[in-house]
Amino acid sequence: MEFYVTFERAVELITSQEFTLPSQQVPLFEAAGRVLREDVVADRDDPPVPVSAMDGYGVKFPDVETVPSRLKVKGVVPAGVDRPVEIERGEAVKIFTGSVVPESVDLVVPVEWTEEREGGVEVKKSFPKGANVRPPGENYRKGQVLIREGTVLGAPEVGIAASVGRSFLKVSVKPRVGIVVTGSELLEPWESFSSPVQIRNANAYTLYSLVREAGGEPVYFGVVEDSREKTLNALSEAFDVCDVIVTSGGVSAGDYDFVKEVVGELGIDVLFYKVQVKPGKPVLFGRKGNRFFFGLPGFPVSVFTSFNLFVYPLLMKIQKAKEIFKPKVRGVLVEDYSRKKAERTEFVRCSFTFSKNRFLVSPLKRQGSGVLSALIGRRALMVVPKGVKSLRKGDSVDLILVKGL
Ligand code: AMP
Ligand code: MG
Repeated sequence: MEFYVTFERAVELITSQEFTLPSQQVPLFEAAGRVLREDVVADRDDPPVPVSAMDGYGVKFPDVETVPSRLKVKGVVPAGVDRPVEIERGEAVKIFTGSVVPESVDLVVPVEWTEEREGGVEVKKSFPKGANVRPPGENYRKGQVLIREGTVLGAPEVGIAASVGRSFLKVSVKPRVGIVVTGSELLEPWESFSSPVQIRNANAYTLYSLVREAGGEPVYFGVVEDSREKTLNALSEAFDVCDVIVTSGGVSAGDYDFVKEVVGELGIDVLFYKVQVKPGKPVLFGRKGNRFFFGLPGFPVSVFTSFNLFVYPLLMKIQKAKEIFKPKVRGVLVEDYSRKKAERTEFVRCSFTFSKNRFLVSPLKRQGSGVLSALIGRRALMVVPKGVKSLRKGDSVDLILVKGL
């Protein structure tokens, strides 16, 4: 076991774990948020033939070089109808968005630049050759690899899979993530207080949401009182059915902190305990066979940051995602930031805006580990490296986008 490791070492110990979850076929409706385990290849050109991008009239270019111009309407090609209506000089064909463009047509004049006259049409504006015609393969070409293995599937990827005729995709099985929350002071949101020292359990719900965001299947084991036996029982139950177990609280050095004590009894190989980070110093990471254990601190902000920094990359890695970290960008600090001690890497909670191609970063005034309310809304983590005591307004900083954009 390594004790009080640097942030970088902790991440290295986590991301060097070799284990990949099995894959499964899922129907497209279930595919969003999952990690793809195959390449998705185009089965044909899209569009397969030239199609009209507008409702209007297919015409020959020389006929609309000077306008207004009157043309005879030769016929109609509705979308989805394979009816080649070929035209000669002086003729037009009525056409719709998605209709096949006949070979003899040079361009499509949008309907708003035309006026129907008995038996004919008047074109009021010229367009270049090819205007409003989508060429074959505009979207993709047959044989092209469209989505690579390891991609986290989002809305466009699922749409593309459908368009290449895939109704099932091979994805990683969701990691089952057990959530065990410790603390005799905790009440569930629906329970009523019997004493003013009780507090509501926020962490279970934060963790549940974070697991879902990382493509996992959360399994909630409830609140466990601060007792050695109860902690041991809850954790061994979780180990029976989960790939990854995450606990909150009970991992510090207090008399009632039993998580650290019982991991040994469970046969977990502890890889590190305590990390040189702020917030969330007392994080524990271990492994037993192909099951992983994270003991996170109890403070709600620490739970959020340490999940994003440590648990998230492991969940992405075992799902075989290409990108396993939360996105990181460079930002510009809009005010000075200083701290008394610089012995840990600090993840300063910030608000940010994006303006003139730059992320402008403002550290929040309320940085307490218990102040979860400061994380409501658009928030990110500014990285203050170990050894750095102060940063100046205008300095360039790393910003971890833990809450999307
Ligand atoms: P611990 O790490 O167990 O000493 O907890 C640290 C602090 O976080 C204490 O103030 C706890 O009351 C608080 N805390 C622990 N677990 C939770 C939870 N599930 N929800 C909200 N606050 C918690
Ligand atoms: Mg506790």
